[in-house]
Amino acid sequence: MKIGILGGGQLARMLALAGYPLGLKFIILDPDANAGAAGLGEHLLGAYDDPILLAELADKADVVTYEFENVPANVAAFLSSHTTVYPPANALAVAQDRLLEKNFFRELNIRTAPYAAIDSLADLQQAMPDIGYPAILKSRRMGYDGKGQVVLESADDLPAAWQTMNGAAAIVEGFIAFRREVSIIAARRPSGGIVFYPVSENRHRGGILRVAERRCDDPAQAGAEAYARDLLEKLDYVGVIALELFDVDGELLANEFAPRVHNSGHWSIEGAETSQFENHLRAILDLPLGSTDGRGFAGMVNYIGGLPDDRAVLNLPGSHLHLYDKSPRQGRKVAHATIRHDDAGVFADSMEKLIAQAAAVDDS
Ligand code: AMP
Repeated sequence: MKIGILGGGQLARMLALAGYPLGLKFIILDPDANAGAAGLGEHLLGAYDDPILLAELADKADVVTYEFENVPANVAAFLSSHTTVYPPANALAVAQDRLLEKNFFRELNIRTAPYAAIDSLADLQQAMPDIGYPAILKSRRMGYDGKGQVVLESADDLPAAWQTMNGAAAIVEGFIAFRREVSIIAARRPSGGIVFYPVSENRHRGGILRVAERRCDDPAQAGAEAYARDLLEKLDYVGVIALELFDVDGELLANEFAPRVHNSGHWSIEGAETSQFENHLRAILDLPLGSTDGRGFAGMVNYIGGLPDDRAVLNLPGSHLHLYDKSPRQGRKVAHATIRHDDAGVFADSMEKLIAQAAAVDDS
């Protein structure tokens, strides 16, 4: 079987690495000649909307998937009409527009921050008395890792904040004073089986994920699973999904979902019986899904802008290093490292050291 992937970055790379033992072959479409997954399969070099390359991808791949959600609707439609595409195009359409996404959560009775659609400065001024300060103005589309977002502290901030949107449609959200951020990763196959990973507790800075730790018997597990199950079933979803949540004193509010494998689940390569990457492939091929049971204690640290010192990382008990074959650039995720250990004390000590090492080369 050959799997087509739109995008050839680290997520495609880790999908391919998980697929080799299953005898899978890969073909990726990516405009970058140095894409991190390029060496792991056939590389179609060109734009994501190049009709000739898309036709070749659809022709050669048994199933097409993707590693980012901002796939243009016409590209998803073209691929879907020529081959099997998972996750389904409707999940992409919802996930790539923050307003549709929040409305969808509301339809499913999944709680969110208060929000309003904003198409003009007047809309923003009108919405703020209900939303309250502080708040965040976010572009509806093409936002990720905190990009296209402005914090609003008072009415004085509104004109300048709206200017930064450059006329693009936006939403405003109340700023949530969460106790912590958690995410849940789940997978569903076409014949309907669903598996859930243990929730991950995540730390962001500047809108970018820095640290994720797999939790054991977390009080948020049942609520997060219930939300994720509703999403998967309502979207008739196939593949891995990630749902990011704010935990406000035990109450869960949904922030967003990603229709793909997710950074907050990278610990699953070593820290779960079956990684999110393998389960994504199993799901899109309608193979039995693997156990998501945790192994020992597991956590992950991202390297952003600067490469890790490989010896220092590998010297830590329980460590595993994943380099993405990307050249460092400001704010760019270039690697992650995982700690997996059966002993809670050794795990905590290694994580602390790993976090300090990553912070020392982090340029953002
Ligand atoms: P996003 O791009 O929506 O995933 O946001 C990136 C990060 O910004 C989140 O993981 C949070 O740390 C923070 N953030 C986003 N929206 C809110 C909000 N409404 N209240 C508080 N923090 C937020």
